[in-house]
Amino acid sequence: MKYQKAYDACQPVATSLVDRLLTGISPWRCVLCSDPAAGMDICPACLEDLPWLGHACCGCAIPLPDSGLRLCGSCLSSQSAPDPYVIALAYEYPVAQMLAALKFRKTLPYARVLGELLSMHLRKALLTKEIRAPDLLVPVPLHPLRQLQRTFNQAELIAEHVARNIYLPVKRQIVRRIRNTPAQMKLGRTARLENLRGSFAVSGDLSGAKIALLDDVVTTCATVKEISRMLKFAGANEVQVWAVARTV
Ligand SMILES: [Zn+2]
Ligand SMILES: [Zn+2]
Repeated sequence: MKYQKAYDACQPVATSLVDRLLTGISPWRCVLCSDPAAGMDICPACLEDLPWLGHACCGCAIPLPDSGLRLCGSCLSSQSAPDPYVIALAYEYPVAQMLAALKFRKTLPYARVLGELLSMHLRKALLTKEIRAPDLLVPVPLHPLRQLQRTFNQAELIAEHVARNIYLPVKRQIVRRIRNTPAQMKLGRTARLENLRGSFAVSGDLSGAKIALLDDVVTTCATVKEISRMLKFAGANEVQVWAVARTV
């Protein structure tokens, strides 16, 4: 199995003594098929069937057909060096359903499941030196009004699980969303970036910092690109984009 090694190394549930004891007595059930999952949230068969992104552009995570290529045409023609992207899965069944359940139906345990899936992918990227370990993890913020309505920020919840697995500090106060932007859906690429200008505020001196910016789903890259621009303006040396899923 492609991810067997990472799967073996991953112990998402059995993190406390109580968890370990419970796992020994009654195996955990897979959240997707309810089969025993031996201390994991997802059983090996379902894990293998997930829509892993596979070979993708290092600069925007769009899947690439040729494994010899590192960047897509758009990233190759970009004037500045693209940020490294590490995105685990395609935004398809059942990942899209888990993300929607977390976001809109407050199925909070999915934050752990999705955080574990991203952590598995990140461990591999770190191990193969595809990326260097960053200094800190910054979740993409919601506007305070949106967060008040939802009561939580899904990117923050996922970031907490990833941070625990990869041993990184989470710094949620570095980036704030100060403007509630209208929906981006119908806008073109340039208009999307324009629409986001002035939406975020970055605080603190980030001189030389290597930052991982974490979002639940990356759709157009406009949000992460705008935050990355601001983090670099505040002195960040490198910004990596980490996400559970990407629309393809
Ligand atoms: Zn299963
Ligand atoms: Zn690209």
